[in-house]
Amino acid sequence: MDHFPIFLSTKGQRIVLSGGGDAALAKLRLLMKSQAALHVFAPDPAPEITAWHAAGKLTLHGRALATGDVAGAALFYAADEDAATDAHTANIARTEGALVNIVDNLADSAFITPAIVDRDPVTIAIGTEGAAPVLARALKADLEAQLPASLGMMARVGKSLRELTNALPLGRARRDFWRAYYFETQPHSEDSASRALDELLTRHLHKTARPGHVAFVGAGPGDPDLLTLKARRALDEADVVVYDRLISPQILELARREAKMIDVGKKGFGRSTPQQTINALLVEHAQTGAQVVRLKSGDATVFGRLDEEIDAVEAHHIGWQIVPGITSASAAVATIGQSLTKRGRNASVQFLTGHDMHGFADHDWATLARPNEVAAIYMGKNSARFIQGRLIMHGADRNTPVTVIENASRPDQRVLETTLNRLPDDLLGANVTGPALTFYGLAPRTATAVSTDLDAELKLVEFA
Ligand code: SAH
Repeated sequence: MDHFPIFLSTKGQRIVLSGGGDAALAKLRLLMKSQAALHVFAPDPAPEITAWHAAGKLTLHGRALATGDVAGAALFYAADEDAATDAHTANIARTEGALVNIVDNLADSAFITPAIVDRDPVTIAIGTEGAAPVLARALKADLEAQLPASLGMMARVGKSLRELTNALPLGRARRDFWRAYYFETQPHSEDSASRALDELLTRHLHKTARPGHVAFVGAGPGDPDLLTLKARRALDEADVVVYDRLISPQILELARREAKMIDVGKKGFGRSTPQQTINALLVEHAQTGAQVVRLKSGDATVFGRLDEEIDAVEAHHIGWQIVPGITSASAAVATIGQSLTKRGRNASVQFLTGHDMHGFADHDWATLARPNEVAAIYMGKNSARFIQGRLIMHGADRNTPVTVIENASRPDQRVLETTLNRLPDDLLGANVTGPALTFYGLAPRTATAVSTDLDAELKLVEFA
């Protein structure tokens, strides 16, 4: 991020603009929303500017900008739409200590003006560092359509009556109140907004505090768009988030900003937080009344050690809930354009783990080795050779298709198409470092080969 967004206080400030044409008009329309004293220098101003001057909205100086005119100003806009004039006025302004913006000249500007969604006092500024003005405008239009026109009015009423809410305890009780005010009341005027706020306050003052609670939330395979709405809401209301190693940073970003974030990253065969410690953390925080979100990758009920944590929470009579998520097998199979079950091929599918607490996990290999079986293998990287050996020993066809999907649903997703025979070697060659899901008995529906500089038989494929 080069341009860091801040909101500048304009009360008692001076903002100077040089120019009197279209570019000047566009900037002035925005600047007149601020509380700054506006000074415009233009020998030949557009009639609108003259009218604004007459209405007392700005001060027009009917001449070119000269040395001394920008002294003490906070911001300066060079809006003459002529490179030489803009360079000249910008120079004066810089020397006199103002931050300079030259219209349509990103490189020589110290700041840029964002696209603004105005629900004063709620203001949304959108910037793309000059990369995509069209995108900024589209985002602005989207937000304009989404945000009720009454939002600013509600915020003003909320601010003026803020002290009333001191009667509510700080923290969750107050947050619940404000959330209800903004999202559950729909006042049309300042009067009805203050009435709604009053009634809501009485109701909330008589509410008993929400007890501590643990939500076991499936965070999906990594793409934030694959979170459920329930998961998003839980993250938005969380006081404490306890999360695993596989949770992507983009998803952690969605947690309430004040939430306490606790990383208990578990790595297969590596550094880990003992299960006991995780259980104790959940209990300890819920007992203080916190809304705890226990964030697990994929679906919390699939190889997630969920029951041990539920047992611990239940033993302390703490309320809990499971919020389902998209398991990595679902995301991975979507990537290769296949179904997990298919009429005439397989009427069942196994979800199995390559290793468990005791090492490599044993399964009903004889059943799996029969033709047309499909299995989604979790944590199957280190156990690939073991699984291959067991299946072949029980008579599986060496040419059974096998597909490994690394980082399913994430930007760095890769698909490795191979066979049971070549699985361990191909995995090694492909240097798979991210979480990977192995499909035994499934090949990608349509394979577009790219990047085949490894082995001729090894096809790393990617789908758009
Ligand atoms: N509860 C999770 C599974 C946890 S076990 C779920 O429902 O998906 C961890 C294993 O899940 C990893 O070793 C890997 O096999 C798989 N996994 C998790 N996220 C993945 C992803 N984005 N892409 C591929 N596999 C993933």
